[in-house]
Amino acid sequence: MGLPSERKHTMPHETLPVHSHVVQFSDDDMLLVNTISRFVLDGLRGGDACLVVATPVHHASLAQRLTAEGWDLVTAQTDESFLALDAQETLARFLVEGQPDRARFFDVIGSLIERAARGQRPVRIFGEMVALLWADGRHAAAICLEDLWNESSQQYAFSLFCAYPIHYFDGHAHEAALARICQQHSQLIPTESYTHLSEQERLRAFTLLQHKAQALEGELAQRQATQERLQTLAAIVESTDDAVLSKNLDGTVTSWNRAAERIYGYTAQEMIGQHVTQIFPPHSEEEFEQIMARIRRGERVEHHETKRMHKDGTLLIMSVTISPLRNTIGMIIGASTIARNVTEQRFLEAKSQQLFASNLVGIFVANAEGSVLEANQALLDLLGNPPAEGQRSATESKTPTAFLEPYLRSLVFQASQGYGCVEPQEILLQRHSGQSVPVLAAVTCLEQTTTCIGFVLDISERKALEQRKDAFIGMASHELKTPLTSLKGFLGVARRLLAVQDQEKILHCLMRMDAQIDKLTKLINDLLDLSRMQAGQLVYREEYVEVDDLVHEVVEGLQEATQTHQLQVEGETGAVVFGDRDRLGQVLMNLLNNAIKYSSQADAVIVHLARDETQVRVSVQDFGLGIAEEHQPKIFERFYQVPDPDRQTYPGLGIGLAICSDIVRRHGGHLRVESEKGKGTTFHLCLPGVSTEAPLTS
Ligand code: ADP
Repeated sequence: MGLPSERKHTMPHETLPVHSHVVQFSDDDMLLVNTISRFVLDGLRGGDACLVVATPVHHASLAQRLTAEGWDLVTAQTDESFLALDAQETLARFLVEGQPDRARFFDVIGSLIERAARGQRPVRIFGEMVALLWADGRHAAAICLEDLWNESSQQYAFSLFCAYPIHYFDGHAHEAALARICQQHSQLIPTESYTHLSEQERLRAFTLLQHKAQALEGELAQRQATQERLQTLAAIVESTDDAVLSKNLDGTVTSWNRAAERIYGYTAQEMIGQHVTQIFPPHSEEEFEQIMARIRRGERVEHHETKRMHKDGTLLIMSVTISPLRNTIGMIIGASTIARNVTEQRFLEAKSQQLFASNLVGIFVANAEGSVLEANQALLDLLGNPPAEGQRSATESKTPTAFLEPYLRSLVFQASQGYGCVEPQEILLQRHSGQSVPVLAAVTCLEQTTTCIGFVLDISERKALEQRKDAFIGMASHELKTPLTSLKGFLGVARRLLAVQDQEKILHCLMRMDAQIDKLTKLINDLLDLSRMQAGQLVYREEYVEVDDLVHEVVEGLQEATQTHQLQVEGETGAVVFGDRDRLGQVLMNLLNNAIKYSSQADAVIVHLARDETQVRVSVQDFGLGIAEEHQPKIFERFYQVPDPDRQTYPGLGIGLAICSDIVRRHGGHLRVESEKGKGTTFHLCLPGVSTEAPLTS
C-alpha cells in the first residue's frame, strides 16, 4: 500500500472541535505516523499546543517528520507548545496495581494539560497509553483509561486522538470490545486505507465493505462449522483405539494421537519432530524407503502387516494403512498412517493354528447343516481318511463337501439349535472302515454365527485301560484264589497224614504250603506296591548300592529255588548307584522271574553287566517266547499282558513291569526291551552310575 496523496487526503481532525475524542484504527504503522504528524502539524500551525504521549519508536518517527516539515522542535519544546512524553513512563505514573488510578490520572494529566494550555492555548493530545494497555491484554484497564479521558474532557479543554492497531481486534471474540471502544469516542477514523478517499469513493468503499462484511460473516459461519467438524474429527482421532499419525515426506512425525502413545509407549511430545523410523525395528530402512516411494507416487499402502517396536523394545505386529497427504493445491506433502495393533490377535491365531495342527485333538469346523468346512489331520486320521494329498499341511486339510460323521453331526445340530454348545460327552465314532472308536466330543457354536467348532478326543486307550482293569480284577481274584485252594488242599492232606503220623510227607506238605504262602505274599505285595505307586506313596531309601554285589546276591538267591534254568552272570560293572537296594533287587527279581516264566523251553538266563561314563547297565536275556514289536511299548503299562492265542496261560497280573519301570524312573534310569518273537527277550535296566573307576565292558 502506497502513501496516500496529500491532495486527496481529508483529515477529519483538521477541523477538530474542542472536546473531541477521536480514535484511529490503524493497519499500517507508517501511515499511522503520517496521521499523527498531520494531527500535530495542523495543531502547531493553528497555534495549538500538542501533547504527544507515544512510544519511543513513534516519537522518533514523528520528530523526523516534523523536522522535515521545517518545524523547529527545540523552540516548540521550549515554549511548551510541543510536549513529548513516553507512553509507558506516563502510564506508570498513574497506574496502581495495573489499573488507572483516578486521582493520580487527574494529577498527572491535569498538570500536563495546564502546562500545555498556558491558560488559553487549545490543546491537542495524541495518546497511545490505551493501546499499550490493550496490547498487554489489560482490556478493562484500557476502557477505564478511556473513561477517565472522557471525564477529564469535562474539566479541561482539549481534543484527544487515540490510536489502536486494528489487528488488536482480530477475531470474533473482540467484536464487543471494539464496539465498546467505538462508543467511548466522539469520532472514529477507520484504518488509513480509507481515510484518503473522496466522499463518492468512500461510499463505494463503504458499500464494498458492507458486502465484504456480509461475505465474511458467511465465511465465518462456514469456518466455524468447519472448525466444529475438525474438532469432532480430532476428537475421533484422539479417542480411536488405532494409532493415527502423520509425517512429512522425509519421515519426520508431525502428529501423534493418544492411541499411538499407548501402543508405542512414546508421548506426542517425544515423537513429534522425530523420525518415524524410531518405532521401526533395526534394519528396516528399506521398508521405510519403499513405503515413502509409493506415497510420493500418490499410492496408498493398505493393510500392510509389519513389525514395529515399542519404546521398551517389545516387538509389535501392526497392520498399517498409509495414505498420501496433500496440501490445498494437491501437492503431496506427507503421509498419514492408521495402525492397528494385531500382536495379540496374531499370537492367538498362531496358538489356535498350533492347536489345529496338533495331533492331540481332532478339530472340525462345520456349518449348521453339518457340512464340514474344515477338519484337521488328527480328525481325518481318527475317521480313517487317507492323509491329505500332496504337500497340503495339516491345517489346510479340508473335506469341503463331506458331511460329518452321523454322531458328530447330531452334536452339531444339538449345539446350533440349543444353547450354542454341547458339553464333552462320550460317543462311539464310526470310522470309514465301519469300525467304531470311543471318543470324547464337544461342540460349540462360534459367537453370533451358525458355524460350529468341534473337538474330538480319541479315548480308546483309556477305554482299553479300563477294560484291562476290569479284566485285572477278575484275574487278581483268580490268582489270589489259586494259592488259597492249594493251601486248603495241602492242609487237608496234612491233616490226613497227621492221622497216620507220616512225618516226611507232612514236612513236604508244609513246604508246599510255605511256597504257596510266598506266592500269595508276592501277589499281595505287588498289589500294595501298585496302589502306593498310583498314590505316589512308594517310599524309597537312599543309599549307595554296589551293583555287581546286588546282582550276584539276587541271582544266587533265585538259583537256589530254580531247577529248570541255569542263571549266569557275565561281566561286571564295578559301579555304585544311589538308591534303594531292596527296590532295585525287586526289579531284578521281577525281570529274572519273567525270563524264567516266559522261556519254559530254554534252560538258561544270562545277566550281562556293563557300564560307560554315564550309566550302568544290567541286561537280563532269555531265550524264550519273545515279544512281538507291536506289544513291546505296551508291556510297561499297568495290567498289560501280551495277548497271544498260541501262548499257554501264565500266572501273573500284568503289573510287575509297570512297578519295575516306575522304580527305575524314580532312580533316574530307564527300562528298555529288545526282543524278537520266538527268539527270546532282553530287558536292559539302565541306571546313572556314581562311580566310574572300572573301564567300559559289555
Ligand atoms: P505278568 O505278571 O503278566 O508277568 P509283567 O508286568 O511282569 O506282568 O509283564 C507284562 C507282560 O509282558 C507279561 O504278561 C508278558 O506278556 C510280557 N513279558 C514280560 N516279560 C517277558 C519275557 N521275558 N518274555 C516274554 N514276554 C514277557
